[in-house]
Amino acid sequence: MQLPPSGTRPVRIGSITIGGGAPVAVQSMCATKTTDVDATVAQAEALREAGAGLVRVAVDTERDVMALAEIRRQTKANLVVDLQENFPLAEKVAPFVDKIRYNPGHLHHVRREETIGQKVEFLARVARENDCALRVGVNCGSVAPDFLERHADPMDALIESAIAHCDLLDGRGFERYCVSLKDSDPNKVVTANRRFAARRPDVPLHLGVTEAGLPPDGVIKTRIAFEQLLTRGIGDTIRVSLTLPNPRKPEEVSAGLQILADIRAGRFRSVPDFGRGLNIISCPSCSRVENEAFVGLAEEVKRLTAYAAEHRLTIAVMGCRVNGPGETDDADLGLWCGPTTVNLKRRSELIGSFPYDAVLPRLRAELDRLIASEPSSSPLRV
Ligand code: SF4
Repeated sequence: MQLPPSGTRPVRIGSITIGGGAPVAVQSMCATKTTDVDATVAQAEALREAGAGLVRVAVDTERDVMALAEIRRQTKANLVVDLQENFPLAEKVAPFVDKIRYNPGHLHHVRREETIGQKVEFLARVARENDCALRVGVNCGSVAPDFLERHADPMDALIESAIAHCDLLDGRGFERYCVSLKDSDPNKVVTANRRFAARRPDVPLHLGVTEAGLPPDGVIKTRIAFEQLLTRGIGDTIRVSLTLPNPRKPEEVSAGLQILADIRAGRFRSVPDFGRGLNIISCPSCSRVENEAFVGLAEEVKRLTAYAAEHRLTIAVMGCRVNGPGETDDADLGLWCGPTTVNLKRRSELIGSFPYDAVLPRLRAELDRLIASEPSSSPLRV
């Protein structure tokens, strides 16, 4: 079958176009240190050769910007830069990239004397002057505080934040943008994107299930969301976010291409119900990972907790302090990695920081305690 057309407007990003009837583009993100130019170029090229139409790179510092200039010279990939809290860096990175992603939930951290409208105006001007597109990337773990205050339901806050930024960009005559609305729960990704598309059918959507985790579960969660959205004509570019060691990062691209091929061929998988039983989410890892042991830790967590597979609980494993603390708040147990220790949380409460070789027994003890104390997490009876 052909995917139904999304009906969105075309947005050019480097040598490709998303929306406007263009084929759905698959993208991925480098997990190498951006300052390690050789490694990042090699990974960007590996992703491009695997079929990535866009390759994202994280930039947080001036040193990252200097490295990016050299990376631009050495790769043919269409480059996207991911700005988190340091959005003023946009001006410095824009000459070297084809798209800038900004997170509306992080704009309030710096240049506090400016309004959000002024900050968006700055980003639109920088993008326009440098022939770049923008992505408004809202994320369940980092919704702007004023939207969370105004909306009792976090889903409403997520969607309204995205809509408001579309209005801000439209109001400045800037239409070369797309939007993403991400969550680690595929069902919420489906709801958020369906509701957004109903309100703004003209805006191209970047689809993704954030922190989907290790393959194969991470691919299955993502497939659930993509099948339900792409078959409804929602989605113009996709990323499968997987927790993988660096040499295997191109598997994100092959997984995305495979999902698209299966949907086009009418091959739909049975949909596992992630609302039942133990759900382990882990971030896909990127250059911000604070310790190489992260991927191994995520695998160990999965092995260690297999005995609790029938309990309705979520365990989140995150690679760094940028997104780790916020993204673990909604999990029953969360681990986020620092350089030498792992921070273990029970929902939003920090239990403690433990060396990498000591955290797993603590996790096991906390999981046992949770299972014993909460009847709601008891095994399912089918
Ligand atoms: S949690 Fe940190 S390391 Fe993991 S993908 Fe997000 S920013 Fe990168």
